[in-house]
Amino acid sequence: MLTVDLDAIAANYRTLCGELGGSESAAVVKADGYGLGAAPVARRLAAEGCRRFFVSDVDEGGVLRAALDDIAADAVIHVLDGVGEGAEGEFDRARLVPVLGDPGQIERWAAHGRAHGGRSAIIEVDTGMGRMGLGGRELDDLAAAPARLDGIAVAYVMSHLACADDPDDPMNARQLAAFAAARARLPGARASLANSAGIFLGPDYHFDLARPGGALFGVSSAPNRPSPMAQVVGLQGKVVRLRDVDTDMTVGYGATRRIAGGCRIATVAVGYADGYPRALGNLSTAYVGDIPVPIVGRVSMDLVTFDVSEVPTEGLRPGDSIEMIGAHHTADDLARDAGTIGYEILTGLGPRLHRIYIGKRI
Ligand SMILES: *Cc1c(COP(=O)(O)O)cnc(C)c1O
Repeated sequence: MLTVDLDAIAANYRTLCGELGGSESAAVVKADGYGLGAAPVARRLAAEGCRRFFVSDVDEGGVLRAALDDIAADAVIHVLDGVGEGAEGEFDRARLVPVLGDPGQIERWAAHGRAHGGRSAIIEVDTGMGRMGLGGRELDDLAAAPARLDGIAVAYVMSHLACADDPDDPMNARQLAAFAAARARLPGARASLANSAGIFLGPDYHFDLARPGGALFGVSSAPNRPSPMAQVVGLQGKVVRLRDVDTDMTVGYGATRRIAGGCRIATVAVGYADGYPRALGNLSTAYVGDIPVPIVGRVSMDLVTFDVSEVPTEGLRPGDSIEMIGAHHTADDLARDAGTIGYEILTGLGPRLHRIYIGKRI
């Protein structure tokens, strides 16, 4: 069972808005709301006043539009991947606004805009991510021929930070300077630079609009600093078998772990097919109440085994749940054990995990 605390997401949104002062905060809900369910998450954020959302592609945009229409028909939904060939109609149907960082896409959307009375877009410039956005010469070309934007109302000029999770990284200042130079080439448009971590780099990085994702969902976007965000996600695994081990034996695939007679092993019905990383085998821990229970053996596809010898017998029964992600051991803690980041843990949590929303659901 996966619990998603919508009140915590709302609190995180308010925390970020407070940090931003007068700048607006959008919400990035790509990858089905970082794996937590884009519709319930975005509906709650809309009720908190959020009116601008980012998704990855046109399909996610259509789903989100349908989810928001009854409560926030005026919400603006941006598509980070831009507009593909022949997708203009779908953008119009779901009233989606593309992020354009490619000359061919700008040409396509401008032509569509000229034929239909104008269309809005965000223009993305690359300042060091090397992934999306117009490069230096492409921006020069556009600045030299501004008529190429005829048909497009430029809502924002945006860019994306590569190293915002480390405030001491000189890349941040370099990207800020490059962004200022790029803005000067497209004068008059509002601006957006910061993701979650960028918000905590301070007001120089805030501009008109921030685009947090991970921070809303409680994962740390700055591993070297204590996170001010509320925890959102809980993963409770159901114990399907409790076994008192009477003799020395090994546990799990590969027989990687030997345990002694007298131990107690709980087998829990969550595995790597649910996004509980196989890399955690013999390395991480869950909790029963306040008692840590280490993983013994490898993580299987559908099962994982914990040493619960320290838990009083009456403290755990078959059918009970143990806390695999929660206040004792967060998604970030689990990520550290697995050699990854909290983002990958959240987005990897599989569809078999029943999502339970707690807090006010809109
Ligand atoms: C995913 C993404 C974000 C959100 O980043 P977080 O680190 O989750 O806050 C913002 N902007 C762009 C362009 C993104 O791709």
